[in-house]
Amino acid sequence: MNENERQDVCSFCGLPASDGRRLIEGDNCFICETCIGVCYSMLNLQNESFCQEERCDDDFDISLSPHEIYDKLSEYVVGQDYAKKVLSVAVYNHYKRVQNNLYKHTEVDIEKSNILLIGSTGSGKTLLAKTLAKILNVPFAIADATSLTQAGYVGEDVENVLLRLLQAADFDVELAQKGIIYIDEVDKLGRKGDNVSITRDVSGEGVQQALLKILEGTVANVPPGGGRKHPHQDFIAFDTTNVLFICGGSFEGLIDVVKARLGSKVIGFNSNEDINLSDEELYSKVGHDDIQKFGMIPELVGRLPVIAALNPLSVKELTRILKEPKNAIIKQYQTMFAMDNVNLEFEKSAIEAIAKIAYNKKTGARGLRAIIENIMLEIMFTIPDEKNLKKCIITKDVVEKKAKPKIIVEEKTA
Ligand code: ADP
Repeated sequence: MNENERQDVCSFCGLPASDGRRLIEGDNCFICETCIGVCYSMLNLQNESFCQEERCDDDFDISLSPHEIYDKLSEYVVGQDYAKKVLSVAVYNHYKRVQNNLYKHTEVDIEKSNILLIGSTGSGKTLLAKTLAKILNVPFAIADATSLTQAGYVGEDVENVLLRLLQAADFDVELAQKGIIYIDEVDKLGRKGDNVSITRDVSGEGVQQALLKILEGTVANVPPGGGRKHPHQDFIAFDTTNVLFICGGSFEGLIDVVKARLGSKVIGFNSNEDINLSDEELYSKVGHDDIQKFGMIPELVGRLPVIAALNPLSVKELTRILKEPKNAIIKQYQTMFAMDNVNLEFEKSAIEAIAKIAYNKKTGARGLRAIIENIMLEIMFTIPDEKNLKKCIITKDVVEKKAKPKIIVEEKTA
């Protein structure tokens, strides 16, 4: 094209330089200022979505594999290997799902999988849920199902559970919406049989219905009352879609339901193999039908697809709990004594004796602290007054017979 024929047009939109539209010339091409503006916005948009993906990686530590989650849980929770495995996989999948649904990595919506923990009191259900939240660095709240009521009844509304999570997240709604809620004693909401009063029965089911809504994902209106002041809001809209709910309960008598099911299944096969299983094995066979028979409404059971059963803790495990976890009770006492420059030692047989007492009380690990507290009271009362005390040794007799501990005093240098 010679110089006379040439008309300067934008190589992108094809429009000529007119109406004050300016063109920038490149090597044999032009771009108008409108197209520059469009390109600028496109680049900015891309940057934003890039940042969002970066941010979500920071938000959820799903860089941890199920195996790593399991290992971290084991630093705090002794035994319960099966439950720890189930939880590690479930939690890993949950946060993958959250990431997928939030940032639409695929067209498929992965459904929510809340978790049901079954285990006797003091077996570590709350500890597992709490530790998971700590590992993943997400806000955590605990609620007791028995204190919950349907909206409008005297008691605590189900929405208050969400308020607690908001408080744990310092009212950062976005953060709270990715947190973990542990609801204890869900088994107490179930119908127990024909002799339960109608009113109680109905309220139990009403709470189950209310729980169902927040478990399956809803936008709830949370009253901020009781928390910090929010002058401009009466209610906080809280989307529970990405909250991980872990429900727990002891489900006493559930084993009999499982036994009855397995028993009826083997009739006619001339085999009682399944009924002779240990409690541990029976717990691992708990299914959704069993939970439903126990009194939970089917819709709620359906919203808790992952079931993890915890075993009653053995004497050996209780012994390990006393000394092994990062914040083991014995370590806590040793730290306290060290502050008085006293070396506190528990003989192996003393630790076992404490574990046996807890085991016989059937309070799981929950009873351990009270037992030690009782043993140590007198010692802690007198220790600070003892002169030149170097070491205090707790023997089996201290635990079982309230004998005095062995004391080693620092020798005075003349
Ligand atoms: P649950 O919720 O099953 O009734 P918790 O998790 O509240 O029991 O346990 C009560 C206390 O006992 C916890 O604070 C924890 O210190 C201890 N504990 C229970 N189970 C374990 C465990 N498996 N490993 C370590 N500590 C445990």
